[in-house]
Amino acid sequence: MTARTSDIEKAAEVLRAGGLAAFPTETVYGLGANAEDPAAVARTFQVKGRPPSHPLIVHIGGAEHLDDWVHDVPATARLLAERFWPGPLTLVLRRDRRVPLEATGGLETVAVRVPDHPVALALLSTFGGGVTAPSANRFGSVSPTTADHVRAELGDAVDFVLDGGPCEVGVESTIVDATGETPTVLRPGGVTREDLETALGRPLAVHSTSRVRVPGQHPSHYAPRARVILVEPETVVAEAQRAQELGRQVGVFLPPSFADAPVKAHAVVTVPGSMAAYARGLYGFLRELDQAGCDLIVASLPEEQGLGLAIANRLRRAAGPRPTD
Ligand code: AMP
Ligand code: MG
Repeated sequence: MTARTSDIEKAAEVLRAGGLAAFPTETVYGLGANAEDPAAVARTFQVKGRPPSHPLIVHIGGAEHLDDWVHDVPATARLLAERFWPGPLTLVLRRDRRVPLEATGGLETVAVRVPDHPVALALLSTFGGGVTAPSANRFGSVSPTTADHVRAELGDAVDFVLDGGPCEVGVESTIVDATGETPTVLRPGGVTREDLETALGRPLAVHSTSRVRVPGQHPSHYAPRARVILVEPETVVAEAQRAQELGRQVGVFLPPSFADAPVKAHAVVTVPGSMAAYARGLYGFLRELDQAGCDLIVASLPEEQGLGLAIANRLRRAAGPRPTD
């Protein structure tokens, strides 16, 4: 879906005036601010309730603008930008002075990407500058993949919501520290590790995920209201039923191989077999189970390859310990 030109102009005007405009990208909806306006950037943190030490991603309109925002770009970073932009890949590079420290959490590096969405690209080109855009939700909660999600969660706290339809990828970008010659994945996301390794011609180090299937290692993020527990795929049905019988309102992420299994629960989502469809639907499913009134979600992790790595990362974080734990 595209957006009306007048709406794109309105969003650009809001950014120029120091306001906040939410806009669609291929990953999730972003809460946009003029990256060069420290006050506007600071308001993003306030609206999200996000600690100011968590750096933002600066969205730019094309790889040709990269050198306006960063310096000392290694050859590998150029290669990745060339291969994956526009797309769900964020590169962490050395900050140009043009990027205020408010946007980088005080770091001398900055995260940059070119989103692959016609409405986002039209907005960036109309606006003409860089736009900081964390996910347009409150800190720690489920990211929005439709304009309605943004309106429901942020309401009047955002000056304008540019509607570009549902997001195609559905999970956030892959973040790569590209400051050195040996890039490292800081967060798995929409560009797969396998595709990065093919482009680089060598294996990549991945931080931030562990293969251990223990819930509770990761502080909660991407989390619905309902508690999330992760179990082996074969035990999802039995665990859900047990909790339901104990009086919980259970929502189930039914693994595709058990799609026909009868399950006693409050609400059931059958997980798509395709990882692309699962990623696209993930945050919507979590919201759906919250809205159905579930207080517990029983899910399992997909195979951690391709987009499954990013999905598993988000589910682990959703199952992580809550601040009140
Ligand atoms: P998001 O939460 O989707 O807005 O993505 C922002 C995330 O990008 C932050 O929480 C960090 O994990 C990462 N990030 C942004 N800038 C940097 C940076 N300069 N160095 C390392 N990680 C960064
Ligand atoms: Mg977020």
